Amino acid sequence: MAGMEQPVEDSELTVLCITGWCRNGSTILGNVLNEAPGFFHVGEIHFLWKNSAGLGVNNLCGCGATLPECPVWSEILPVGRPAGATPAEHAANVIRRQRAVARTRHTWRIMKNGLDAGGSSDLREHAELMTGIYRAVAERTGSRVLVDTTKIPGEAAVLPRLPGIRTVFVHLVRDPMAVSNSWRTPKDYVYTMSASKNTAYWRAFNIASRAILRRYPQQSMLLRYEDFIADPAGTVDALLRLCGADPAGNPVHGQTVSLHTNHTVTGNPDRFRHGETVIRPKDDSWRTGLPRLARLATLVVAWPMAWRYGYRSTGGLRRPAQPVRPPRQVPPPRQVAPQPLSVAAPHGTAPAEPALEDGTVGSGS
Ligand SMILES: [Zn+2]
Repeated sequence: MAGMEQPVEDSELTVLCITGWCRNGSTILGNVLNEAPGFFHVGEIHFLWKNSAGLGVNNLCGCGATLPECPVWSEILPVGRPAGATPAEHAANVIRRQRAVARTRHTWRIMKNGLDAGGSSDLREHAELMTGIYRAVAERTGSRVLVDTTKIPGEAAVLPRLPGIRTVFVHLVRDPMAVSNSWRTPKDYVYTMSASKNTAYWRAFNIASRAILRRYPQQSMLLRYEDFIADPAGTVDALLRLCGADPAGNPVHGQTVSLHTNHTVTGNPDRFRHGETVIRPKDDSWRTGLPRLARLATLVVAWPMAWRYGYRSTGGLRRPAQPVRPPRQVPPPRQVAPQPLSVAAPHGTAPAEPALEDGTVGSGS
């Protein structure tokens, strides 16, 4: 029914929607889930049209082919394209609609007003397109659960309005210090962003993602990236159950998972790797890699939200200790007259040396 959230049956298609801010580990989580029976990781499907038209930062599928030449996406891209429209014209129209009605700032009005939000037909047309796309991918790949790591909350808010599709939300949050450190480092097609700007996005995207979880608590999970990497097998068990899948299909053993070729639309460049993959249980390289000023900027912008998620370590924000100067030559004591024993200096009154702090210096690496 127009504008209403859609009832779904257990047997229908599920979309596991991961929200949150970029560099939160969604690509590796999606690729791990991609190994579970009946699951298919589409990547960041929001960028399918932009990247297939060559307008994004990369146009490759996770399989290594360009999106228009990939055996999966070449069959999906024509879905919803109006008769007579070229692929470029269709891509331009989809991108225009996405910008007009499905941005992060639109999250609340979509949750409140449904497909009537925005006062035009754009959102309804976008929802129709996404319904057709998800269904076509499920049919083409024989999947029951599609994992979408788009992360844009405005897109996520549309999903419960799609007919015949059950949506499960995972709000994936990562320590803003680690996220700022990740944004400092250029990697293949991934650009960089300052700590203050990236953390402002971290804040906005997490606020909107939290609003979605509060709106749909029965079908949602808040997940910290750090908890996922500390116990990937247990986390995937919980996610499979959330999607109504059998945990016996969990592909993770301890910290190890065997990754095969995927068909992801954009994401972290690590998506091109496959084979035996060990998930490191800790994510603390920011402690030595993130400079003090960037840590301070991250702390200020992320407060108090980061605290609420349990991220309370700053890694030390005091200035790094100065090199210790060699002790000055102490002149020989003057010869003084012997003092009475009753005024001898007490023990333990010498001024203490300032304590040196370890691990506070950004290496700039
Ligand atoms: Zn592909």
